[in-house]
Amino acid sequence: MSFTITCPICGKRDLYEFRFGGEEHGPRPDYQALTPQAWCDYVHRRTHRAGPQQEWWFHRDGCGRWFTVWRDPGTNRETSCSEKRR
Ligand SMILES: [Zn+2]
Repeated sequence: MSFTITCPICGKRDLYEFRFGGEEHGPRPDYQALTPQAWCDYVHRRTHRAGPQQEWWFHRDGCGRWFTVWRDPGTNRETSCSEKRR
């Protein structure tokens, strides 16, 4: 299986140039109120819902940037990308 990812710097490239960074799940929890369970949920819990989701990708064999892509895992089609940074 292969598909393309569009890097906001380099453009559309083959999947194998990238590293998947997981679903985007918002800002880190507040450190002052952080519990082990809240941290575990933030790091490991995924929604796995059907339809488009925002994902982090790293252009490992290209510009070395982290960015987000809206992609439908069911069809592997992108709907948009942005240059958010990690
Ligand atoms: Zn790139």
